[in-house]
Amino acid sequence: MTAAAVDWARVRADFPALDQKVRGKPLVYLDSAATSQKPRVVIDAVRHYYERDNANIHRGVHWLSEQATKAYEDVRKKVARFINAADPRECVFVRGATEGINLIAQTWGRTRIGAGDEILVSTLEHHSNLVPWQMLAAEKGARVRPIPMNDAGELDLDAYAAMLSGKTRLVCVNHVSNALGTVNPVARMAEMAHGAGATILVDGAQAVPHMPVDVRAIGADFYVFSGHKMCAPTGIGVAWAPLATWESLPPWQGGGDMIASVSFEKTTYAPAPARFEAGTPNIEGVVGLGAAIDYLTALGMPAVAAREAELLKVFEAAVRGVPGTRLVGTAREKAGVVSFVMEGVHPHDIGTITDREGVALRTGHHCAEPVMRRLGLAATARASVAFYNTPQEAAALAAALGAVREIFRT
Ligand code: PLP
Repeated sequence: MTAAAVDWARVRADFPALDQKVRGKPLVYLDSAATSQKPRVVIDAVRHYYERDNANIHRGVHWLSEQATKAYEDVRKKVARFINAADPRECVFVRGATEGINLIAQTWGRTRIGAGDEILVSTLEHHSNLVPWQMLAAEKGARVRPIPMNDAGELDLDAYAAMLSGKTRLVCVNHVSNALGTVNPVARMAEMAHGAGATILVDGAQAVPHMPVDVRAIGADFYVFSGHKMCAPTGIGVAWAPLATWESLPPWQGGGDMIASVSFEKTTYAPAPARFEAGTPNIEGVVGLGAAIDYLTALGMPAVAAREAELLKVFEAAVRGVPGTRLVGTAREKAGVVSFVMEGVHPHDIGTITDREGVALRTGHHCAEPVMRRLGLAATARASVAFYNTPQEAAALAAALGAVREIFRT
């Protein structure tokens, strides 16, 4: 379906949380980069799971356990199709992008990174794709080096090329920056990393919810994302890698479900993905993720991306139109994030005042302090859009920012 063929007003009506007043004003939810709202089908799927199918998976021979196991494993197949993985076993369920990156650091990183090795991390990273590497580097005597970016928030590929060397073990980059909305050239960066013999991890937390993603076309070695940013519940996400990679790695957490056999003399481990899913997992989260993937697939990710590209233009124009504001992050390739500052007004004050108008913005460093530091800012205000937002909400944002201006005029 194209964006024009979708009835976006009806789509919006699928999201019960959007249909409410906050502080007496209609809610204008512009914080989807932090977490998306959930359509009724996802909420219903979780309720249905608890009302009909609730049981622990993989262990029971009884009917309900078989139902729950089937539901869980069926979603793995849906995830694989959604990101074009070659095999569902390549998709490991984790709590979210953060846990996925930590899993990779604790398995791949601990066995492959040594003293003197270099880990190149883009300046645009969320802390979740920097701090685990700093922790590992400290343990191993490796070095984390920032890939620089320009004032628009685009990574400097010439500098990146110059940094790649025989010492480079790993490159870490997000597909889309949560702080600025920059869409990074991850396929090109993967090719360059591989040219230097390095491995590349792409953090897709802000990409999978907003555009078609094909992990094989990107050519990364690892790709992670979170369910809660793509209409699914919190506490579920996916770490993807080719099966051969997972099979070559040791487990990171020990416990039930990740073993082949256990004795005091010798314990052996299950093949991937079970090897990396110790303990009772977030079954309801997986069920909800499956419903979210069905929902997004029915809309069509190309239509979602096109709709959000239109909204991005409208929201950027709305913010630009408010005297004294400046957009932060003006990359040529951007997804639905509008970060901005307003002269003489702290971003936290912007967020507090717009909240009184029912407009939910995020303010702060967006868990990306190096980005702020590079741009000489302590914080920005951020409006992040999803397909369920409307152009009218851009006008509401502009009006709320006008109210902020009025208060600070005196
Ligand atoms: N990476 C990016 C780009 C993000 O925006 C976020 C969350 O905002 C994360 C990683 C971490 O995601 P989670 O908290 O769901 O693990």
